[in-house]
Amino acid sequence: MLPPGAVIGIIGGGQLGRMLAIEARRLGYRTLVCDPDPHAPAAQVADAHLPGNLSDPAIMRDLAVRADVVTYEFENVSPSAVEAAEAVGRVYPSSAVLRVAQHRLREKEAVARLGFAVPPFRPVRSVRDLDDFGLPCVLKTAASGYDGRGQAVVQRAAELPEAITRLRSRCDLLIAEQLVDFALELSVICARDTHGNAVCFAPGENHHSGGILDLTVAPARISRDVAAHAGRIATGIANGLGVVGLLAVEMFLTHDGRILVNELAPRPHNSGHHTLDACAASQFEQLVRAICGLPLGAPDLYGPAAMANLLGDLWPPGGPPLFHRALEVPGVKLHLYGKTEARPGRKMGHLTAVADTPYHAAALALEARRRLIPERTDGLSGSRPGAHPAAGDA
Ligand code: AMP
Repeated sequence: MLPPGAVIGIIGGGQLGRMLAIEARRLGYRTLVCDPDPHAPAAQVADAHLPGNLSDPAIMRDLAVRADVVTYEFENVSPSAVEAAEAVGRVYPSSAVLRVAQHRLREKEAVARLGFAVPPFRPVRSVRDLDDFGLPCVLKTAASGYDGRGQAVVQRAAELPEAITRLRSRCDLLIAEQLVDFALELSVICARDTHGNAVCFAPGENHHSGGILDLTVAPARISRDVAAHAGRIATGIANGLGVVGLLAVEMFLTHDGRILVNELAPRPHNSGHHTLDACAASQFEQLVRAICGLPLGAPDLYGPAAMANLLGDLWPPGGPPLFHRALEVPGVKLHLYGKTEARPGRKMGHLTAVADTPYHAAALALEARRRLIPERTDGLSGSRPGAHPAAGDA
């Protein structure tokens, strides 16, 4: 066991690293964040910052020597650099897990090999590879895609050549997946320790906008059986890959009740941010516990919760959003990531609410987010409260 006071090295300085560093500090650990930017969200709150290129094996070795255990907060890191850290220290989850999760083809093949269902898929380098593959489909770059980037939905064969050429300029290998007509998107975050004990948070239901997570509601509005099935899938994959730390598993629930695995992330996940305010042990605390050899915490929710992302699009040109108005909504909590420059699509923060029902929690978080935007004075309305389909008839 690594006792409080030990140093946790974090590869990457984004918001996931920031929330991890804050939780680690609360538990008495020290953090060393490796990121090129000294003002990165996690570097702002860490005990120490190690500047450097995350693909540089020498930097990774330095990080592992200076830290007692190392983890990462995003997966677009070079596995060979992570191996360099592994050669001199403890890194969780391992570079072997990272190699699988950062490559969509290896990821789908690994999940299928473990016996879990995935959408029909195929590696693609040219149009010919899709001769007998049904349309519509989603084309994705095998590596370095996130938040809907590096993806194209293709409806007709005539669209394929342009889509393939465009995506192959980002990554030589593509993967085609059947476009799933899902009823709901779910995610389960599983924490697994060095002894193989695994604990899952309740499945969250995720609503995306433009390929980026917009709203998570937890627990997902699904039956007990479906929730248990989703938990078994996440645990089975975490066990099968030998994850130590966290594994987030994104899934599609089909209209006929099947669960297809979409994506894996071996790190804290945006769809688990509500656990900071709605659970005794958040996803970030579970990660600290798992990699430091502490017992895993109870994942139970205090109550139904919702999380609404705050993207840079909400930042008006003249100044910050109206945070004071959002905070007037009872029970809503604001989390900001310390990013000074707001850009469209950039994750700047999130709002969470815990309430008596998932509908109510979603309505509170969305109402708080609506209040961030100044009312228009030209008679045209912006987004209406409760207009989000996930808020239902709260
Ligand atoms: P991903 O980066 O793979 O998580 O994809 C981002 C979002 O695109 C997902 O959350 C889904 O909303 C959508 N998406 C991705 N793959 C598929 C698919 N095979 N069928 C339908 N929608 C998809």
